[in-house]
Amino acid sequence: MKKQIAILGSTGSIGTQALQVIEEHPDRYEAYVLTANNRVDELIAQARKFRPEAVVIANETKYAQLKEALADLPIKVYAGEEALCQIVAEKPIDIVLTAMVGYAGLRPTMNAIRAHKAIALANKETLVVAGELINELAGENGTPILPVDSEHSAVFQCLTGEIGNPIEKVILTASGGPFRTCSMEELQHVTKAQALKHPNWDMGAKITIDSASMMNKGFEVIEAKWLFGVRPEQIEVVIHPQSIIHSMVQFEDGAVKAQLGMPDMRLPIQYAFSYPDRLKASFPRLDFAQCTSLTFEQPDIRRFRNLALAYEALHQAGNMPCIVNAANEVVVAAFLRDEISFLGMSDVIEQTMQKVSYIKKPTYEDYVATDLEARAIAKQLIQTP
Ligand code: NDP
Ligand code: MG
Repeated sequence: MKKQIAILGSTGSIGTQALQVIEEHPDRYEAYVLTANNRVDELIAQARKFRPEAVVIANETKYAQLKEALADLPIKVYAGEEALCQIVAEKPIDIVLTAMVGYAGLRPTMNAIRAHKAIALANKETLVVAGELINELAGENGTPILPVDSEHSAVFQCLTGEIGNPIEKVILTASGGPFRTCSMEELQHVTKAQALKHPNWDMGAKITIDSASMMNKGFEVIEAKWLFGVRPEQIEVVIHPQSIIHSMVQFEDGAVKAQLGMPDMRLPIQYAFSYPDRLKASFPRLDFAQCTSLTFEQPDIRRFRNLALAYEALHQAGNMPCIVNAANEVVVAAFLRDEISFLGMSDVIEQTMQKVSYIKKPTYEDYVATDLEARAIAKQLIQTP
C-alpha cells in the first residue's frame, strides 16, 4: 500500500522538495492533498502532474481560477483556512507534512494530530508557539511527530537505537548565516537583499531572514526542547559554517554522535516519510576529498540578540515563545518591506516580550489571544518606535 501524503504548503521550498521525494519513490508514496496560499499557477501545475485527490488554496480569491484550471480532472478543489484545517482529517491520509510557514500552521497541525495522522513537521513555528499543547495532544492521540528540520532530523537519527540511554546534551549546529562575520557597525546597515542570500541553503524568504538574524536557531532550540524532552541548559548551539554536520547528541558517557551529509532537505524529508527505514536515494553524496575542513565557533549573542531572546522565552515558558514568534513574524514581514532595519527587529521583539500579558499555563484560546495581542503591539512599535 502506498502511503498517502498531504503536503501543507506544497508550492514552497520544503513542499517542492517533498514532491521530488515522492517522485523518486512512486511505489511507496502518493500526494493525496496539495495546498498553497497564493501561488495558484504553481499549484495548478503540481496538481496536473501529481494528480492528488484534492487541492486547497488558502487565499479564497484564487478559488475560481484554480477550479477552472482543473475542471477537466477528477480533483476536488477547496479554498480557505477552514478547508485547509479540515482536509488533513481525510481518512486515506497517512502522513501530513506541515510545510506551510508561520503561525498559520498551528491549527491544521492540531487537527491532523486529532485525526491520528503521522506528522512530518517542518513548520517549526507550531512547536515554538504551542509545544506543550502539541505534545499533550500527540500523546493523547498516539500520533508520532517526525522532525523534518535538518538539525532535529539529525538528532533524531543519532537517537535511533539509543532507547533508554539518557541524553546529556543536544548540540545544534548553525551555519551562522550571511552575516556571521559582520561587525555590529556593519549589521546596522545590512540590507534585505544581503539577508536573503543564505550561504548554504535555498529556503523560503521568512526562514532565510530568520537564519540571517539567528532567530531560526533560537526557534530550533525551542523546537528541540519539545521534540526531545530536554531542558534548556541541555541544548547548545555551535556555529559550523560548512553545514555538513547537521547536529549532534552527547550521551552520559561523553560519546558524541553526529549526522553528516550534504545540505539537502530532501534527505530529512524522506527520512520523516520512511522512518524507521532508509530508502535508496539519488541525492548528492558527501565527498571528503572536497570537504577538507569542518570548523566550529561559539555563537555571539551580543551581535545576534535573537538567539538570547529565544533562550529567554524558553526559560520563561508559558506564552512567551508565542509572543516572540508573533513579534518575529511581524518584524520579518516589515523587514521584507524595508520598513525596519535588521537590528531594529530584535528591539521590537524584546519590547513586545515586555508588553504582552504573560500567561504561565496557556490554553489554545490563550495562544490565539496572545498571538493577536503581540502582533498588534509589534506593529505599533514599528510605526511609533
Ligand atoms: P516557503 O515560503 O518556501 O513556502 C511556504 C508554503 O506555505 C508555500 O506553499 C505557501 O504558499 C504556503 N503558505 C504560506 N503562508 C500560508 C498561509 N497563511 N496559509 C496557507 N499556506 C501558506 O517556506 P519554506 O518551505 O522555506 O518553509 C516552510 C516551513 O518549513 C517553515 O515553517 C520553515 O521554518 C520550515 N523549514 C524550512 C526549511 C527549508 O529548507 N526551506 C528548513 C527547515 C524548516 P504560496 O506558495 O502560495 O505562498
Ligand atoms: Mg534547520
